Amino acid sequence: MNRTIYLILGIILFVTSKVKSQNTTWIKPGIHCFEVPTEYLKEREQIPAYWLTSNREINEFLDEKIRKGEVRQIGTSAGNRPIRAVFYGSPRKGEGTTTYSGSLGYQDVLAYRGPDHEKTVFLAMAGVHGGELEPIMGIINFLSVLETGKDLRGVSWPVIEELFNSIDRLIVIPVMNPDGRNRVPIRMFPFRGMNYEVNEFWNTGGYPDGTLIGWPDVKEFIPFDFTSNKFPGGYSNEAGVNIQHDDFFNAMQPETRALFDLCGIEKPDLILNMHTGAVFPKMLKPFTEVSLNVVFDRLYRKVLTAWTTAGLEKTDNVQLESDPERVGSYSPFSLDGALSFHCGALSAVIESPNHGFAAARDGQGDMIVLTPEMLLEAQLIGYQESLQFLKDSGGRSQWTPSKN
Ligand SMILES: [Zn+2]
Repeated sequence: MNRTIYLILGIILFVTSKVKSQNTTWIKPGIHCFEVPTEYLKEREQIPAYWLTSNREINEFLDEKIRKGEVRQIGTSAGNRPIRAVFYGSPRKGEGTTTYSGSLGYQDVLAYRGPDHEKTVFLAMAGVHGGELEPIMGIINFLSVLETGKDLRGVSWPVIEELFNSIDRLIVIPVMNPDGRNRVPIRMFPFRGMNYEVNEFWNTGGYPDGTLIGWPDVKEFIPFDFTSNKFPGGYSNEAGVNIQHDDFFNAMQPETRALFDLCGIEKPDLILNMHTGAVFPKMLKPFTEVSLNVVFDRLYRKVLTAWTTAGLEKTDNVQLESDPERVGSYSPFSLDGALSFHCGALSAVIESPNHGFAAARDGQGDMIVLTPEMLLEAQLIGYQESLQFLKDSGGRSQWTPSKN
């Protein structure tokens, strides 16, 4: 009798282990191998032509579609992938006489930025986190507007086109972390209703059975331990480091180093660091110099007003939605704070909602779905309003007083 029970139990265990192994797939996106749930590898069946997000698609776009801009490799990732940027306009000469910190001590950032400090320089980057696809799609459409006046749907953005000519220098980095992007083998996720788990798995990582490491727990271990059975998501580079939280005062990762070297030369006024991770489009309050907090509040009001007017926020109440006081806390010290203290820029994170699931319900309990096209609109409105703000406010040379 006992032997029969053990035999049956043995058969059940054997069968369930077989079922489990059939439901996972081994992938080798770079130098590391990972066991992931097969179901999680599904892509959306119909991917719109404007939705370009993979490293291959981005590199093809840069090779074939950039005419006005100059494409340059600014660095190489830990996994030996090129980090590419597109440059427009004329650079600041940047012949300052002191360090950035020195200029704060001298009480005039002109001393750091140089005699042409009134030039306006804008830098945008996406793909710091490789599993966050909306910003990569958005930044490619932004490049399309800069090149042709139209996004990849053929929709014109005349205000961006006009601003393009009034800003002295624009630098666009479509994928800051190509290793992380390479690790997530999805171009566009199917829509899974209120189920966020698959997107979260690819973004912040999980286990072979599909359960999540979770946010912010994924940040407890940097660098990531590639000898574990966990999948790290798209956060880290091939060395396991999430560059949003690099070791900024010691040996930085090659991606971060390249970005800091670039910013040291270009001295941007405004940096947009584009991410995914919000219920409705939002900006995070950066950890930055106290004197830049009021500047951020003005930028925030402008961008949130435009998103609300476009019907992309929870309510239509502009005054409510654009109130910076409603953003309770400042971001912790991270890449944006480090960049700000490195070169004097205001560096702000914009968070997009996710195209793979709905994160909110309306008053009737129905899902609020921001369609991929609405997410594209949110991205381009974010760029448009930020460029307008930079032009109207005059940039860092006007944000804090100069002695001259
Ligand atoms: Zn992110």
